Amino acid sequence: MDPEEFRRAGHAVVDWIADYWKTVGQRPVTSQDPPGAVAAALPAGPTEQGEPVEAVLADLDRVVVPRLTHWQHPGFFGYFPANTSGPSVLGDLVSSGLGVQGMLWATGPACTELETVLLDWLADLLDLPERFRSTGRGGGVIQDSASSATLVATLGALHRASKGRWRTDGIDRRYRAYTSTQGHSSIEKAARIAGLGADGVRAIEVDPATQAMRPAALRAAIEADLAANVVPAIVVATIGTTSSTAVDPLPALGAICAEYGVWLHVDAAYAGAAAVCPELRWSHAGVEYADSYCFDPHKWLLTGFDCDAFWVADRGELIEALTVMPEFLRNAATESGAVIDYRDWQVPLGRRFRALKLWFVLRWYGVEGLRAHIRSGVALAERFAARVTGDDRFELAAPHPFSLVCFRLRAGDEASAELLGRVNATGRVLLTHTRIEGRYALRLAVGSPLTTEQHVDEAWELLTAAADDLLVG
Ligand code: PLP
Repeated sequence: MDPEEFRRAGHAVVDWIADYWKTVGQRPVTSQDPPGAVAAALPAGPTEQGEPVEAVLADLDRVVVPRLTHWQHPGFFGYFPANTSGPSVLGDLVSSGLGVQGMLWATGPACTELETVLLDWLADLLDLPERFRSTGRGGGVIQDSASSATLVATLGALHRASKGRWRTDGIDRRYRAYTSTQGHSSIEKAARIAGLGADGVRAIEVDPATQAMRPAALRAAIEADLAANVVPAIVVATIGTTSSTAVDPLPALGAICAEYGVWLHVDAAYAGAAAVCPELRWSHAGVEYADSYCFDPHKWLLTGFDCDAFWVADRGELIEALTVMPEFLRNAATESGAVIDYRDWQVPLGRRFRALKLWFVLRWYGVEGLRAHIRSGVALAERFAARVTGDDRFELAAPHPFSLVCFRLRAGDEASAELLGRVNATGRVLLTHTRIEGRYALRLAVGSPLTTEQHVDEAWELLTAAADDLLVG
């Protein structure tokens, strides 16, 4: 494909995406086809002769789009949002076009420096502690996901807890990670990959009313481990848990971590984006205790997957834990000590120019546009929660500080599960579920930039109509 062919085909692809966004709301949110439908619609192998891009676009319409879960659909209320936006897609397109691999400063000076500056901007935007800035001892980096951020934090914590022996001796004794019973599954995965073993993570109990970690229970667990000669390595606290967006009490947890010298990682994968709004920053009280912190712009900040923003307070510790220097990567810039080589801040060697999509997003929306997006999600969730509390048949299952509402039918778990199945079967919306204190709850998470009051009201109408049928029949 020469540049002129690319120009023509590229315009056709951009047109196709714009048309998809304009019409996605008219489609069923989830695929109606059984497993295997995509494979059955594809030929046995690739064509001998090349084909025009139009042929691929036709197959996107015929084979792919009908079998998607449409995450950008205005009726998509499942899981947490995975926003994208026009500027994000365009930034990603430029990144793909440049094809830069920024493993070292030397292999991508602008890739590295733009990322460093943007992460400093983002730290300002979220009002994160000064010590995360690259201008001091800290700094930020883009990881592919919050899961990778937690893994990297765990490795840094092991390096610290073992006083550097982890690099040479591996897991030389028993180390422990702590999170609440509501902590994300990626914490257990990180501990497993890091070699902490089956009981590497202690799940600390939560307050039943708030679903937030109990500091006294954390202290007791650390004390018990110390008494058993197990080394407390890392506490992962959450701002906005996956089930119900509970906020762990960072000031109390941070003080305990400081007292015992344990690495505190704060996982704000979804709710970190809320801190762009000053009125929601209460959720970040105590973040100054954190050794590392991450949130996913790819969840609620209009930046397409993958983009996790991760900061450390002491970049030297992380680099020491992860750096490996083979001869073929040696270069004058690295040896000068004056540059950042982001390969030392992550698991893979190679890395894409992900800062571009973030740059496009920050510049297109500006701070005001980002705040408007978050505020709209919070207001729509509030609107929906008011409907729930106004109907005697329903109840809220947890507080809703951000844009997720957990609720259920008072009639019980079975009725609530049946209700979820019925509304999702309409194809107009997708909600998911969880269990809170053992009881079934539906989750409605607002986040698509296409979602308006009309879509939230439609979701409520579908729910009440299904409840009418269900509770009578
Ligand atoms: N942490 C929390 C609190 C989450 O809610 C999620 C995903 O929903 C994750 C981590 C994992 O995110 P990622 O897909 O970026 O690894």
